[in-house]
Amino acid sequence: AGGRTPLMAGNWKMNLDHLQATHLVQKLDWTLRDAKHDFAAVEVAVLPPFTDLRSVQTLVDGDRLSLRYGAQDLSVHASGAYTGEISGAFLAKLGCTYVAVGHSERREYHHETDEVVGAKVRAAYAHGLTPILCCGEGLEVRKEGGQVEHVLTQLQAALDGVTAAQARSIVIAYEPVWAIGTGEVATPDDAQEVCAAIRTLLAELWSGDVADAVRVLYGGSVKAANVAAIMAQEDVDGALVGGAAIDPTEFASICRYRD
Ligand code: PEP
Repeated sequence: AGGRTPLMAGNWKMNLDHLQATHLVQKLDWTLRDAKHDFAAVEVAVLPPFTDLRSVQTLVDGDRLSLRYGAQDLSVHASGAYTGEISGAFLAKLGCTYVAVGHSERREYHHETDEVVGAKVRAAYAHGLTPILCCGEGLEVRKEGGQVEHVLTQLQAALDGVTAAQARSIVIAYEPVWAIGTGEVATPDDAQEVCAAIRTLLAELWSGDVADAVRVLYGGSVKAANVAAIMAQEDVDGALVGGAAIDPTEFASICRYRD
């Protein structure tokens, strides 16, 4: 919508080892190339586990694939005594374009606050990575109709300290928590309501120009059967796909939603 290049990003979560990752990326690439997919018209990215990234890089570089890739998280720190953490510098060195930040599973299971998420957004930019900043309300908030306020509060905190130049490139993923992995997809109108409010916030924080440039994705039980209706919404510029992204045929169909 709005002249922005749609982005379909597959969040593999903790699925697929590096051998399976290689198979999936090959199959996805073959399927899309067979269908003459125009990667410049609809961008395709995968977010595998950290341990798969080197294999994905080798394949993408070696075979000159048009897929982009990234990680599912990064440390707020650049390096040092942070056992088990992964620096954005390492991800950049592996050719990552994107890094997801503040996914609801990180917020829930690793207690990531909006402030931590904001520090991760800044860490991503510090290493030349594009954050895919995730936000979204839980079921209780949705039942009370507080989704817009909840999401805008999350984003305002996480976008603190981001410059206008950085903000232009950010990707925001609106993912209602009650729709993630549940099969319960938000209606296209539900997605549009919050994605439009996000764009208005971006205009307020920076400018209309920045707001027009930023891609706002929807995520939550997206599949080939429901993606076209969601993509028809004015302010939805792509999808962050979980479960359906580890099936290369299904994910390729999602990327081909215009067919
Ligand atoms: C996700 O994890 O970002 C997601 C949207 O998952 P699913 O598509 O499985 O709901």
